[in-house]
Amino acid sequence: MSDDAAVGIDLGTTYSVVARVDASGYPETLVNAEGDRITPSAVLFDGDDVIVGKEAVKAMAAEADNVAECSKRDVGHQVFHKVIGGKQYPPEVIEAWILNKLRVDASAQIGPVRKAVITVPAYFDEVRRKATQDAGYMAGLDVLDIINEPTAAAVAYGYQKGLLEKVATAEKPLRILVYDLGGGTFDVTVMEIHGNRFVTVATDGDVRLGGHDWDQRLVDVVAEAFLRDHYVDPREDRAAAGKLWLECEDAKRTLSARSKTTIACDCQGRVARIEVTRARFEEATRDLLDRTRFTVGQTLAAARLRWNQIDRLLLVGGSTRMPMVRAMLREISGLEPDGSVAADEAVAQGAALRAAQLVPQAHRLKGQFKIKNVNSHSLGVVGVDRATGRRRNGILIPRNTPIPVAARRVFTTQKDSQRSILVQVVEGESASADECTEIGKCSVRQLPPGLPAGSPIEVQFQYKPDGRLKVRVSVPDTSARLETEFARENTLSQEHLDGWRRYISGLEPPRT
Ligand code: AMP
Repeated sequence: MSDDAAVGIDLGTTYSVVARVDASGYPETLVNAEGDRITPSAVLFDGDDVIVGKEAVKAMAAEADNVAECSKRDVGHQVFHKVIGGKQYPPEVIEAWILNKLRVDASAQIGPVRKAVITVPAYFDEVRRKATQDAGYMAGLDVLDIINEPTAAAVAYGYQKGLLEKVATAEKPLRILVYDLGGGTFDVTVMEIHGNRFVTVATDGDVRLGGHDWDQRLVDVVAEAFLRDHYVDPREDRAAAGKLWLECEDAKRTLSARSKTTIACDCQGRVARIEVTRARFEEATRDLLDRTRFTVGQTLAAARLRWNQIDRLLLVGGSTRMPMVRAMLREISGLEPDGSVAADEAVAQGAALRAAQLVPQAHRLKGQFKIKNVNSHSLGVVGVDRATGRRRNGILIPRNTPIPVAARRVFTTQKDSQRSILVQVVEGESASADECTEIGKCSVRQLPPGLPAGSPIEVQFQYKPDGRLKVRVSVPDTSARLETEFARENTLSQEHLDGWRRYISGLEPPRT
């Protein structure tokens, strides 16, 4: 395979998958060093050894304190919620270890892998996208693109249905709603497929809702039954809790196929086998399912569509195997949910198709396609309301705007001879800046001297198709060129990134 070969990576909350487009142009999932097609996104820190995948999950039972799992949920925060071996890791560093294993295992199979397209939930904001890109860099990868998971799934679906070989026609587009419930995140996206063009119409989701929450409810059901009989709570004993969680995740899968199962729980010398029926499990998780139902309704409304205008309801993500998901969707849509793409592998395969498209010289891709996305959160600049003194969110790019998009807004200086201006960028729907997420800021110093109060300062946003943002500030009608770097909140410096890259991947940073 050529040095330029690029893979697609679905970096999931609970599992990750790598795929590539093979020599005959087909997407295929690669197996890891253990021979599995999916790799648990868990990392065991054992002294100087870092172990990723199945072994790290097993270690949850005995040394839960040293295992980092669900790091994707914390991406965008400064540090991972759990202290591991006395250290507080940034969540993207934990993700970098996972990506590094995927890279090393894929390289062992198909030759050196350096380039990748990584997927993220459509609902990921700018900070989380940047952190994901950084994780790829620290893992020794050149991240060619960050694409949305539902878009990748739709591309894989389109490939399977032979749509990539068609050209856009004036025919009615195929409208699909992608319901993606993974291990830790939930996304709904409405897409239109016009021949080989994939256009996102609206997207919404919840970065803190997924199969893991269903596991947790099952843990609660069992732990409460155990507590009633034995007066000890296994959730309060670290080792027992780790083991119980493993049992419950397994039992949850059994309950997708059978109407009841028994779950073993042992804690402080007491042992019990507790029977749980599917009906009891569904009752304990009803509100979680209702949250997804609500988001589906909201996304359809944002797309200004009704169910009778949706042609396909595509299921993606391992958690859509739960019968309650299909039943709910059938009931609200009147459609039969389409599970024809492999729930766990479709996203990585769609990413692989995108990667092959970006490095055409190294792959023989059958057919071409275009992707058009929207931004999932409104982007604005903080301004102060003169009347109330409150910090307001001046939205420049409303959510669900097709990207790439550029927007500009002119602000004015507050006082005579003002020499600096601070531009704070926020993401969110609220009019109050305090209720939005601050994603970064830039300050322009050394404005030209002698500017009178009320002089215009222009702020330009450029939102790129990969969901990344560029901000430029300038003073119109002056010769001063004031381009400034946009500093993001909660991100690692280039120096740190380079250091982690050397440490995790053993590779030198690329020379620029
Ligand atoms: P993903 O991130 O898409 O791989 O989804 C992983 C999630 O799917 C995890 O929470 C798994 O426990 C869950 N999952 C996988 N298979 C099943 C199944 N048969 N029934 C219920 N949940 C499942």
